[in-house]
Amino acid sequence: MDEFKYVYGPVPSRRLGISLGVSPIPKKTCNYSCIYCQLGRTTRMINHRQLFYPVDNIIAELKTFFQKNINYDVITIVGEGEPTLYSGLGQLIEKLHKITNKPIAVITNGSLLYDPDVQSDLMQSDILLPTLDAYDEKSFKKINRPYSSLNYYKVLNGLEDFSRKYKGQLWLEIMFMKGINDDPNTIIKYSEILKKIKYEKLYLNTPVRPPAEIDVSALDHEKMDHIAEILNGFSIDLLSSHGFYSEIKNDYEAFVSIIKRHPMNQFEIEEFLKSRGNSFPEKFMENLETDASLAIIEYKGYRTYRLK
Ligand code: SF4
Repeated sequence: MDEFKYVYGPVPSRRLGISLGVSPIPKKTCNYSCIYCQLGRTTRMINHRQLFYPVDNIIAELKTFFQKNINYDVITIVGEGEPTLYSGLGQLIEKLHKITNKPIAVITNGSLLYDPDVQSDLMQSDILLPTLDAYDEKSFKKINRPYSSLNYYKVLNGLEDFSRKYKGQLWLEIMFMKGINDDPNTIIKYSEILKKIKYEKLYLNTPVRPPAEIDVSALDHEKMDHIAEILNGFSIDLLSSHGFYSEIKNDYEAFVSIIKRHPMNQFEIEEFLKSRGNSFPEKFMENLETDASLAIIEYKGYRTYRLK
């Protein structure tokens, strides 16, 4: 049984520290279906904003969560898809500021930053983490597989425009994949595009978790470091994250509540069980093998678990 519907974690984030996640959108709801997406292919492809859940229901759940006095560094609005598709976003951020002093971050694919309503909603966040994977219309279609009416240059112009107005910290991310966007000419294209955007940090990622499409593969560490040097960014291609936490008492239920939004690999599960004092980790791992609700993916020589 999952105790919370919108709030999850805190989970360790490679960029944000201990992050308390808030998801205002239903499962796999996005206007992209990225080939590297760790949630698998998008099943609910939409491009118009909706009030999927009342803002007050999310706030009420957070208030209950806060009674537990669990430590976290930042509240991150993210989801199993694209959070700017939630039309209550601005109101949600506004209300969050009233109940916490911690920074509010939003992780987004950046596709709707041209929309004045989305801009005004996000203006209230403290940290914005948009992705920019494509370098032209063709690569946009290949990597992000966007909703049909989205146009690369419109999306890019929206990001440029918003980056100049935004008062918070803007941390960009680019996902690099072998043979797709890692050749020297493409890196030059990125460096040209980056000149037009105002950002504080640039993170370079590569699919460390199993991607939606099996033929997508990660770059090795040296290559990531090399690109990071050229683009003056930080590489975040680390294998495992530490510090998963759940308030749920039962280890199995706690594990399921985390992987609903954040797939875990075998090392992370072992670490998680250790931190909870589980004395039979082998038995736990064995049980996972027969759980029909789990997708178990062999990737980069280790096993990763996510919900089907
Ligand atoms: S990676 Fe993000 S933007 Fe891409 S399909 Fe998955 S949820 Fe959507």
